[in-house]
Parts: sequence; C-alpha cells; structure tokens
Amino acid sequence: MRPRPHVSVPGSQLDRLRLDALAAKSRGRYAQAVDCARRYLARRPNDVDVMNFLAGTYFDQQQWPEFLQIGLRSYRCEPRAKHLLLLLRGFRELGRYDEALAFYERERRRPDSVLAQDARTARQIVDAVRTLEKERRQALQRQKDAERQKAKAAATHGPAPRADTPAAPPPARPDPTAPRPDDWPEWPRLEPVSVAIRPQVETTDLAADLDAAKDSAGLVEIPRYEPQGLSLRLSRLEDRFASEFHWLHVRTELTDVRESMADYAGFETYFAVEGEAPRDGITEALVHGRSGAVLALPAGTLAGVCTAPVSAVRLEAATVLARATAAAQAGSEVVASEIADRLEQRQRDLNGRIDEANELLRGEWRTRRAQIPSGAAESERLHHALLDELLRRRRSSVAELRDAHALVVTMQPLTVSYVRLPVVIGTVDLARRARSGRLTVTWNPLSRQFEPIPCGRCGRQSYRIGATDSCEVRCAACLPYA
Ligand SMILES: [Zn+2]
Repeated sequence: MRPRPHVSVPGSQLDRLRLDALAAKSRGRYAQAVDCARRYLARRPNDVDVMNFLAGTYFDQQQWPEFLQIGLRSYRCEPRAKHLLLLLRGFRELGRYDEALAFYERERRRPDSVLAQDARTARQIVDAVRTLEKERRQALQRQKDAERQKAKAAATHGPAPRADTPAAPPPARPDPTAPRPDDWPEWPRLEPVSVAIRPQVETTDLAADLDAAKDSAGLVEIPRYEPQGLSLRLSRLEDRFASEFHWLHVRTELTDVRESMADYAGFETYFAVEGEAPRDGITEALVHGRSGAVLALPAGTLAGVCTAPVSAVRLEAATVLARATAAAQAGSEVVASEIADRLEQRQRDLNGRIDEANELLRGEWRTRRAQIPSGAAESERLHHALLDELLRRRRSSVAELRDAHALVVTMQPLTVSYVRLPVVIGTVDLARRARSGRLTVTWNPLSRQFEPIPCGRCGRQSYRIGATDSCEVRCAACLPYA
C-alpha cells in the first residue's frame, strides 16, 4: 500500500477489527470472525483483502449463498484466477450450473481474462468447467427421467387406479437427499420503501429577473459574500470519505489532501408541497463553480455564515439559470426533513399497498413451490427460477406503487449569491481490475460533507459511485453490473 502523505489516519479502531477477525478465525470462532469482518466492511466496504477473508471464512464453513454473495462482490473489484475457481465451486455446490457456466464464459471472453494469470489455475478452472458441464447434463437427464416416470405413472393409473402396478412410484415420498419444502427460505422479507419526492422546478420568475438585469454582454451582476474563520479539521476526513461515499466495485484510496479556496453559486429556493395541506418554506443550495456539484443545505446556513458582500461577480444569465435548476432539484432532498410527518403518512399508505402485493406473491410462491416435484436435483434450480420470477414481479410492482405515491414538490429559485469558501480537496486513486484512474473530491466545511460526484455518463450526482472496466466513473444506475 502506498503511504498517505497528508492525512492523519484514525484507523486504529478499524485495524483492531481486522486483527480481531483474523484472531477469531484462527481460534475457530467463525461467527465472531464473520461479525468483525462485516463490521469492518461497513466502514470500508471496498477493502478487497477483508472481502476475500470473509468469503474464505464462508467457504470453509460451506455457507455457499453467503460465500457467493461476498465472493462475487470482491471479484468485481479485483478478480483473480484462484478466486474464479472458488466461485465456480460455490455455484456448483448450489446446483446453479447455468449461472456458473455463463459466468465462466463471460470471464473467458474478456481481453484481460484472469485465465491468462496463471496456467496451472487456468487448467484447474477448465477441469472444473468440464465437471460442471457434466453435472448439468446429468441433472437435465434426471429431470427428464422424472418427467417420463410421472407421465408413465399417470398413463398406467388411468382413470381407475389399479393396485397391481408396482412400477409406479408412490407419489409423495420425498427423496431424503433433496431439499424438503421446509428447507427452503421463507418468502423473503421486504424492507420498508421510502416515498419518492419529485421536484418540479419553476425558473420563470428568476429568468425574467435575470433578463431584466442583463447588460449588453448578457452578464448579470451577482453579489459575492466571503465568509471567514471557518476552521477545517482534517483528522477525521478519511473516515468520512469511507462512510459518506458508497463505492461500488472499485478500490479507492484517498492519497492526497490539501486546503484550497472554491467558488460557489448560492441559491435560496422557495418550495411548496402538493396536496390538500400545502406546506412551504425555503431551502438553500450551493453549486460548486468548478465541478458543478450541488450541496443542499438547511435554510439559514448561508445566511448564518455569509457576512456583508465584499464585491460582485458577473455571470452569464444562462449559467445562473442552469445552476439554479440543479440547486432546486437538490433542494428537494432537504424538503424531506421539513415535511417528515406528511411523508410518514404517505409512507404508511405506500407500504400497506406494497405489503398487499407482497402477500399475493407470497401465496403464489407457496402454491407453485408445492407443485415442484421433489427428489430431483433439478428441483433446486426450479425453486430458484420460481423465486427469481416472483421477485422480479415484486420489484416491478414496488416500482409502480412507489411511482404512484411520489410526492410532487414545486421548487422556485429566488435569490442568487456568490460565495468564496475555503475547502479541502482530496485526490482519490481508483482501481478496477488492471485499470486505474484518479479523481478529486471536495470536502465542504459549510455542509460538513464531501460534495457528490457527477456520473461520467448521465451527469447525475451521487454518493453511490463506481467504475467501469476502463475505470470511468459511473453512478449506480449507469454501472453495467450494479
Ligand atoms: Zn449515471
């Protein structure tokens, strides 16, 4: 690992957790090892070493679903040939042959495939794939046999069942090696879903004001405020970096931190909430001049920091309008705390409807799962396929209901100011597979948080951020495999 020159790292607590996890595992206390590793990953979610440690622990304990989940997450950050071999074994243990073979096939076709990493492991992988193919054929054959048996039994029994047909198997005698219905997970629990807030931005009045104030060059004079005496504390920055951002499938390291000055456009925005009992108020937002990042702040933050204007800056009216729109959109996040009681009511309605939809699907899960023949190894695959289908339908009905329950908030930017602020700039090294990249992040002392990072594809700002295989920054929605 590279040294981290300018940051003092309060990592001792985290290091302790990591050591505790190792010690617990070496003493055979697996539950404790898992607990420590999970707590560590909650703070540093993209630490590949600890992800691999956790995956290895699950592997040793033959907890295959847990192993696959964390193993795949780690593999997406930093794939290794040995790692692929273990993942194939996890898939095999769960009888998920098709997924295993598709996963292998994708990896094999990559130009930077891990199969090129070391020849010995590559040979072992090829052997493992042959076994998987063979077992998949056998499973299919068993399924066909079972179906034939069933058809034959039905034909032999005919309309009047005869007692002297020993060839027909007794109908409800489960194979002791096949999972019984009780072994299958109960219908997965649903987490509460939050109501969406849909901002509707109205800039007509602001546009008219800016139009009236434009000079011959199309510029508008904006008062500039200079707050003073903001103290910066660098010490806990690395912790915040890890906790504020949720990094997806990419390794990150904060390598350099320095103080700097940054320019922001500040907006005060009036909001009104739709519905029979309208609520209104003011939100504030800062738009970073260089990155365009928008920070939404509780009302009064800017006023509390800014003193008298020291000068004025001249901005293009169109730029101001574009920034005002972004600021108003981000301001709708702040509105949520102002209208918490109303949201709560709507949230209850929404979740009640979701529960109803969920109950219906759960009933269907019970009925259809009972129809899956037991005794075939194939039944595990059929259970998974059924569960996948029902969960897919559940996701789409949750999305529809959430959309129907969204709360519309009208946002109207009113005043514009300009703020010059001391900030902390950090450099972040990104790494994904063999590629690496770099980006800067800004910590804002006014909001006491990092500014969100814009997605390289859709431009949306986000704290859930990842990277493509070529290490370009993407939001969660634009990642091909989030
Ligand atoms: Zn995006």
